[in-house]
Amino acid sequence: MTKKIVRVHFLGVGGGIPSLIRAPPSIAVSFHGRVLLFDCGEGTQLQLQRAGLSPQRIREIFISHLHGDHVLGLPGLISTMIMLNRTKSLTIYGPPGTKEFTEITLESTHAHLDFPLEIIDVMKGEISHQELYAVNCLPALHGVPAISYVLKMADIPGKFDTDKAEQLGVPSGPLRKRLYKGLQIETPEGRIVKPLDVLGPPRIGIRIAFSGDTAPNQDLVKAAKKASLLVHDATFTMAHLENATKYQHSTAAQAAEIAKLAQVSHLALVHISPRYASTQEHQQEAQAVFPHCSAPEDLECIELNFSE
Ligand SMILES: [Zn+2]
Ligand SMILES: [Zn+2]
Repeated sequence: MTKKIVRVHFLGVGGGIPSLIRAPPSIAVSFHGRVLLFDCGEGTQLQLQRAGLSPQRIREIFISHLHGDHVLGLPGLISTMIMLNRTKSLTIYGPPGTKEFTEITLESTHAHLDFPLEIIDVMKGEISHQELYAVNCLPALHGVPAISYVLKMADIPGKFDTDKAEQLGVPSGPLRKRLYKGLQIETPEGRIVKPLDVLGPPRIGIRIAFSGDTAPNQDLVKAAKKASLLVHDATFTMAHLENATKYQHSTAAQAAEIAKLAQVSHLALVHISPRYASTQEHQQEAQAVFPHCSAPEDLECIELNFSE
């Protein structure tokens, strides 16, 4: 049966300068033994170790933009992959300049790649389509080429009705698996059973939207519509709204406004400025607008599951 759990590991929830309590931005999404990485701030490889995630499981890396706090962990992470004798391919996506940055840093640090590395500069549209998931991106509002990403897991078949299968004489084992995969079967008594006889309506795949650094963006509202989770820039509280506007970031309340308009299930506030020792105010301001929100700490993990 298809596994239904997706884990979102907040490796670093800080923004700008690394602090003792918050690492620079990086989020790993793990499912089915594979890992996708969204941003790769300095020290991401150490945070991966702390989270118990092997870098060798990373298949694709998605960079939101080329400000140092989001990308300076990349050369170190790739160097480690080389030292661990990686053979599996790796694809990196990011706005224009990502390919140049990665190639220059690898070249000047004498890195000898033994595995296929593809680096693709992107700005919008569907950029990765795999059997289990697809990733779309759209421009963010940050004063430099910057991207928001939306990860959509593939839809999965509806819930299997074991009582019905029993009634129809489908024994447990391979025949039920075939039905779950959408294939018609014949029971040992010679009855034809179709998948729809035993399966509920298909369940829409989990969707996770990552704003990256951005001022409030109406395009993201549309792209993140009814997502299971929105991970949004919440660099400042309302007390520093001026800074948020000036540097094209968002306050926690602005992030909550986007979450409310997009009708997402949960909002995670990230990219917290090092000026804040606590995220209490961020959470209070956001919850006043959109109650289903939290400010995860480094190495916290949110599990997403299909509702039964
Ligand atoms: Zn940043
Ligand atoms: Zn930035």
